[in-house]
Order: sequence, then structure tokens, then C-alpha cells
Amino acid sequence: MRSEPHAHPAGQRLAERVLEKTGVDVARCYQCGKCSAGCPLAGEMDYPPSQIMHLLQLLEFPEFAEAALRSHTIWLCLTCEICYCRCPMELDIPKVMDTLRHESLAQNKVNPKARDILAFHRAFLDSVRYTGRLFEMGQVVDYKLRSGHFLQDMLQAPWMFLAGKLHLLPERVRDRALLKRMFAKTLKAKENRP
Ligand code: SF4
Ligand code: SF4
Repeated sequence: MRSEPHAHPAGQRLAERVLEKTGVDVARCYQCGKCSAGCPLAGEMDYPPSQIMHLLQLLEFPEFAEAALRSHTIWLCLTCEICYCRCPMELDIPKVMDTLRHESLAQNKVNPKARDILAFHRAFLDSVRYTGRLFEMGQVVDYKLRSGHFLQDMLQAPWMFLAGKLHLLPERVRDRALLKRMFAKTLKAKENRP
């Protein structure tokens, strides 16, 4: 007699984690594909959004949960919410993608192709952390140091400078202490996350 497949703990854990963090029960996705058909980045993704949902549904195969965490897709997602608007089951896929990004980082499973995207995110956050605003020049320098793309888009710099888009010195928010507390609180909450 053929035995029924059982959910593998790794696959089940990831689906449960997604449910706990987002309220999205991936089992409700019936693979209509409307999310993928509307996603502006689907052509660039290794798995379009409906396939990411499918990977999360296959609880008995841990390698599928692993593939979702190691995918390039989760880093390409723009959080534009088109998929969410189109989904007949009202599944909040952008939130799922966000949770997968957190899990991927926490488990050290970030896709190597996402290296520059992460460098950009970190440079952006550093700018906000130290000035309370986006300081473009600081962000560009930070990004280049992190990514190693020193010459990329260099010819754009003079035009941006002349157009007043790049400032040499940052503008800072007045209440820096509040900013510091906000970041400290967020980092503490992240450390305490199970
Ligand atoms: S939120 Fe992400 S997955 Fe959804 S349509 Fe936009 S880019 Fe695609
Ligand atoms: S639109 Fe919704 S139900 Fe259809 S495949 Fe995408 S997530 Fe699943």
C-alpha cells in the first residue's frame, strides 16, 4: 500500500512562518497564475510569484522551501502590489516576499545575484540612519564601496550635480536622538525575533 507523503519540518516551518508573519495561508493559492501574468518583473525572475507560492505549498519537499529562500525573485520584487490586487484569493504576496527576504537573510541563503540589491538597500538605510534623510551622494559612495562598482554610471554624476540632484553635504533632521532611538528599537526587536 502506498503511504501518504508527510510534510517535512523545514517546508512546514517556512509555510507556518509565512502564515504567522503575514496572515497568508499559502495553501489557499489555487495556482491561477494571475499574479505572475501581471507582475512587471516576472520576466526577470527565476520563479514568478505563483511559482514561489507553489514552492511554499509543497511541504513534503524541503528542497522547495530552500529554493524559495535562495531565489533571486524575492530580491527583485518591487512590492508594487499588482499581484495582490489581481489575486482572486486576496493573498498578500508582497508581504510573503518580504518575509522570505527576512528568512533568507537570517538563514544566510541570499542568492548571489542579489548582492548589489542588498548593497543598495544597506546604503539607503545607512543614509537614513545617519542623516534622517536620503543623502544621495553619501548613498552613492556607500553603494560603490559595498558593491565594488566604482565606475558604474560615473558619467551621470556631473549632470546630476549640475541639475542640483547631488549635494556635497547632507541635510540632517533636527531630532537625531529620536532617530537613534528608532533604529535601536528596531534592531532590538529584530534580535528578539524568534
Ligand atoms: S509586488 Fe512583487 S511579485 Fe507582486 S507584482 Fe509587484 S514585483 Fe511582482
Ligand atoms: S493570483 Fe493568487 S491564487 Fe492565483 S496563483 Fe497568484 S497567489 Fe495563487
